Amino acid sequence: MLLFDSHCHLEDDRFSGDRDEVISRMRETGVVCCTCAGSDINTSNEILRLSKEYRGVYAACGVHPHEAKSVQADYLTELNSMLCQDKCVALGEIGLDYYYDNSPRILQAKVFIEQLNLAGKRDMPVIIHVRDAHGDAIEILKSHRDIIKGGIMHCFSGSVESAEIYLDLGLYISFAGPVTFKNAKKLQEVAKFVPQDRILIETDSPYLSPEPVRGRRNEPANVAHICSFISKLRKLDVEEFASLTFRNACNVYNIDINTAEIIDT
Ligand SMILES: [Zn+2]
Ligand SMILES: [Zn+2]
Repeated sequence: MLLFDSHCHLEDDRFSGDRDEVISRMRETGVVCCTCAGSDINTSNEILRLSKEYRGVYAACGVHPHEAKSVQADYLTELNSMLCQDKCVALGEIGLDYYYDNSPRILQAKVFIEQLNLAGKRDMPVIIHVRDAHGDAIEILKSHRDIIKGGIMHCFSGSVESAEIYLDLGLYISFAGPVTFKNAKKLQEVAKFVPQDRILIETDSPYLSPEPVRGRRNEPANVAHICSFISKLRKLDVEEFASLTFRNACNVYNIDINTAEIIDT
């Protein structure tokens, strides 16, 4: 069984001490591919470096809404050149986060829209982070629907109704650890509802460990728990669900499934 962790943060400091071991546990669990998402220019550069060092590790480069207040005047030029590099498969993570409000909302929207435009020009998919901001996010995405070349609503936390709108915009919906939590009945309804050619799984590690490892540092190997949980919800064979989410990840990131680089050493 082969798995693709569609969103994680292997560049995070919490992996500095044992990154090689984390990668070997991925291989042992069958998690042979992952995409690491940048939060700012520095982490995006670090992710590009990791993608060159490790087979099967793909990169996404972008500025997270938390960091919108810290962008430099030339950040779009820097991002543009990162997007040209080998194994950079998406622009992200970008979006709106009104739960933490770490950056003023007006700046979050500005940086989100600027990056949507850049991805459109470069024909690249986007990884979108939205927390407590679905109304504004939907408005922005609808008004840019012509330039969006595919993308992912990552660590989805919305309702079935909002999922329908994102699906209609051509986006994939990705589920992380919270879908496995006992009190997540509404989210589990969404995980049953998303069509099988649009569903993805991710860890968002080192954050948000799924059951039954909740509370510990998360790592990409744990995407196997999310795979098994959702396959049961959807009454699908776990191998079948693993392979369809693997195929979906390759599709959204424009990776040829026949020649995908996998972690094999
Ligand atoms: Zn996120
Ligand atoms: Zn993330």
